[in-house]
Amino acid sequence: MTATAATAAPLRLDGLAKAYGPVAAVDGLDLEVEAGSVCALLGPSGCGKTTTLRLIAGLERPDAGEIAIGERTLNGPGEFVAPERRRIGMVFQDYALFPHLDVAGNVGYGLGRSPDRGRVAEVLDLVGLDADAQRPVHELSGGQQQRVALARSLAPTPELILLDEPFSNLDAGLRDRLRQEVREILTRAGVTTLFVTHDQAEALSIAESVAVMREGRVEQFGTPEEIYSRPASRWVAGFLGEIEVVPGDAAEGRVECELGSFSAEQGVKGPVDVLVRPESIAIGISGPEGAASAEVVGRRFFGHDQLVELRLRSGQTIRSRRLGFPAWHPGDHVRAWVDGPTDVLPREGDATAAAAPVD
Ligand code: ATP
Repeated sequence: MTATAATAAPLRLDGLAKAYGPVAAVDGLDLEVEAGSVCALLGPSGCGKTTTLRLIAGLERPDAGEIAIGERTLNGPGEFVAPERRRIGMVFQDYALFPHLDVAGNVGYGLGRSPDRGRVAEVLDLVGLDADAQRPVHELSGGQQQRVALARSLAPTPELILLDEPFSNLDAGLRDRLRQEVREILTRAGVTTLFVTHDQAEALSIAESVAVMREGRVEQFGTPEEIYSRPASRWVAGFLGEIEVVPGDAAEGRVECELGSFSAEQGVKGPVDVLVRPESIAIGISGPEGAASAEVVGRRFFGHDQLVELRLRSGQTIRSRRLGFPAWHPGDHVRAWVDGPTDVLPREGDATAAAAPVD
């Protein structure tokens, strides 16, 4: 905990549900965000991210479920804590700053009629705007305005910060720099944070944990590395990036497929799908034992990397993403093997599969 943080508390959502007429926007959502950590709620458009944020903030009433911060229940059977009493700070997509107030005026806004100047100075220092306290907000750049919005949300020492697509109004170069800055500010503040995004790179690069949301529920929760390299479903795998699915057979802790043999969880057996990302598929003129024989059938060059399309002996076509050089050409006869993480799931559509997903 730092001098600027409230006592960090975990956020817990339990069976949260909210429907708009026939549309189940949030449909039995469970989520736990560790105290003081930054969690991304990541999902495609319309999966219910904003509705979840609005329910947590108390701007909407859930149809069912519980919301708790630490020991405090905000929503539960017969319980509804008013938004202003939730101790939640919110940063909106457009920052919602007051144009007629200066930086300090905006930051002090949530602190009542006579805001504690020491507290305003403290959070301005935290976001690196201590020298700009008297500037009108309309003079500030997009990135500075965002930091004012963040300082304003942190000023009343909230227990939770919610950010709704906080970087979507910024151009690409600035966005990347600000992601890191905001992450550092939130970590220094030590406040529990949940931010909504539909941008995979954003979620993976700033969050300590990611909840992948689909159709009103959390489909997978884990660290960025876990959800990227051990996706719980093909849908999560595909949503997070390019994926190749190679059929295999599992027995006694091993999986055999055309790209080689890998260890797998005990208990996984029968027909399985091996999920591999193209950047984990290596190619060479020769390869390690067990490498597949393949022919290059296509190539796209992107400068820093190339996407090489390979046809395996079985006829299956897969992609390998490699550095830009050396160049591979259609017609090249190569070996292909896995050089990176794989994930093993029961074969899709195979009713006889006795396989269990790896955890
Ligand atoms: P986006 O990334 O596009 O903002 P989202 O994941 O935040 O999407 P929500 O805005 O939570 O999704 O919407 C989830 C579903 O609920 C959508 O089908 C949406 O049309 C519906 N919905 C949201 N708010 C309302 C409302 N006030 N009235 C009716 N339907 C709504």
